[in-house]
Amino acid sequence: MIRKYLRTRRERAADRRAIGTDGKRWVRSWINVYRCETEARVPHDETALAKLVSEGRYSCVGQSHSYNGVQVVPGVTAMMMREGGIKTLSYDPATETVRVGASVSVRDLKLFLRDQHGRGLHNSGNYMEQSVVGALATGTHGFGPRAVMADSVVELTFLDGKGQRVTLRRGDPEFAYVALSFGTIAPIVELVLETKPLESYISVSSMSRLSKLDELRQGGIAVNWAVMPYTDPDDPVVMTHVLAECADEKVVVAHPKASGSGKFAAWFLRHYYKLDRFLPRLRRPMQRFIDWLDLEQSERVITDPGDLDYLYDPKPGLKENRAPSITRGLFSTTYTGYNLAFFVPLERAPAVVKFIIREADALRDLGFFLKGIISVRELPGVAEPVFAANARRPMAAIDLFADPRDYAWLERLQRLVMRYEVDTRPHFGKSALGPQFRSSLGLDHLDQLMRIYERYFPEGNLMFSERVRAMFDVGRPLPGEAAADAGLV
Ligand SMILES: Cc1cc2nc3c(=O)[nH]c(=O)nc-3n(C[C@H](O)[C@H](O)[C@H](O)COP(=O)(O)OP(=O)(O)OC[C@H]3O[C@@H](n4cnc5c(N)ncnc54)[C@H](O)[C@@H]3O)c2cc1C
Repeated sequence: MIRKYLRTRRERAADRRAIGTDGKRWVRSWINVYRCETEARVPHDETALAKLVSEGRYSCVGQSHSYNGVQVVPGVTAMMMREGGIKTLSYDPATETVRVGASVSVRDLKLFLRDQHGRGLHNSGNYMEQSVVGALATGTHGFGPRAVMADSVVELTFLDGKGQRVTLRRGDPEFAYVALSFGTIAPIVELVLETKPLESYISVSSMSRLSKLDELRQGGIAVNWAVMPYTDPDDPVVMTHVLAECADEKVVVAHPKASGSGKFAAWFLRHYYKLDRFLPRLRRPMQRFIDWLDLEQSERVITDPGDLDYLYDPKPGLKENRAPSITRGLFSTTYTGYNLAFFVPLERAPAVVKFIIREADALRDLGFFLKGIISVRELPGVAEPVFAANARRPMAAIDLFADPRDYAWLERLQRLVMRYEVDTRPHFGKSALGPQFRSSLGLDHLDQLMRIYERYFPEGNLMFSERVRAMFDVGRPLPGEAAADAGLV
């Protein structure tokens, strides 16, 4: 245990020292389930990047925050885009769009828009350190209108295999493919995104039951819900979060505010989540207890227009600034859990969640426990990029969490859901990617993206992960992959 701790510390220190430097180093996915040691290059500007991409095989890495290793490609040079100097940030008031470079983080983009132009992004994920381009490339989403961030892209510029700039705009035939192309068209050096004015919303957070969901989402424009997987499998306890326009305040349904046993339950939940990581076996009895309390309560907040994380934490200010970060690091699933996610048709989400609850519960004698919640974010409307989760119909993003050593159980749950729900689509940064997604993504669409790849990268220098290659069915694993090195294929 001590040896493992010291090794992890050494690795982390080496990773920190490597930031911003060229040379051999480890590229690790978030939570370190996928990793490889490879040559890295930090592109200081676009001219240097253009030269690098024409020199040999390469892949692109943003902040390397994807869980599923889509950014981890052994045996080729990794372009560390987020660490580079491509930091364009400019706002055009005439079109209300922002131009952003490949080295800019989501946080810096949001701060720039808010502080200098009083604007915001249409939507976002719940973390802000990722590169804007990396986040958009994997289909990062929030919930509610325009949920998939890449749906806001109106123009993008990438370098082709010779290092030449190619710019595509909304309406160009290839645009809807390239706007969300999970590293298969890269490096993207610049994006232009639509923005929206900063505004307040009514946010109602409720503790309730799944059967009350339809009632609670009334009047809302954006809805997410988190299910406690070890409560009643027929009608589990859910925590819903509904955002509504301020003008619709009266339409939004809410339970009465917490009082008496409700306040105790809120206190209990806060403390339970702090212990949750260490006591996986207690998760079920604890949640059964919460189930038994049978609470219905709501809290209503008017969000601050300048709040960067209002979608996930409606109270003013950033959630991360509220608690001491050591507690965050030790207890939050962000830092301690593996997160696998996929999308199912919106109306199927309740049944899919109930199915997962049953399957997970049947695995507990084998020592597998889901972390405290199954999160469901609703993506209403239809997005333009062909590979957006909701390109065809409204969808729900299902996020599952488990201890990192249990991540393979999550893959099994994904596979089981896909057996019964054939329209399941992948999250390109969080699903277990592979050929199983070919039919729901559409063979024609995958072929079309490959044709675009071949057109702009005829030399084949741009490489993408083996799991993405399997999804495209583009041949055998390459040197650097264990299957190739072992002579298996
Ligand atoms: C704590 C945490 C919270 C998260 N929350 C959410 C959430 O709320 N919603 C959600 O949908 N997702 C969420 N994610 C997933 C995350 O948003 C995506 O995995 C995202 O891609 C990470 O961005 P990145 O910059 O780290 O990209 P990387 O992981 O480094 O790369 C992702 C992909 O983008 C490609 N890429 C990177 N840079 C470029 C470039 N310049 N040109 C072309 N391709 C490029 C890579 O090749 C790779 O295929 C979360 C992840 C974490 C760790």
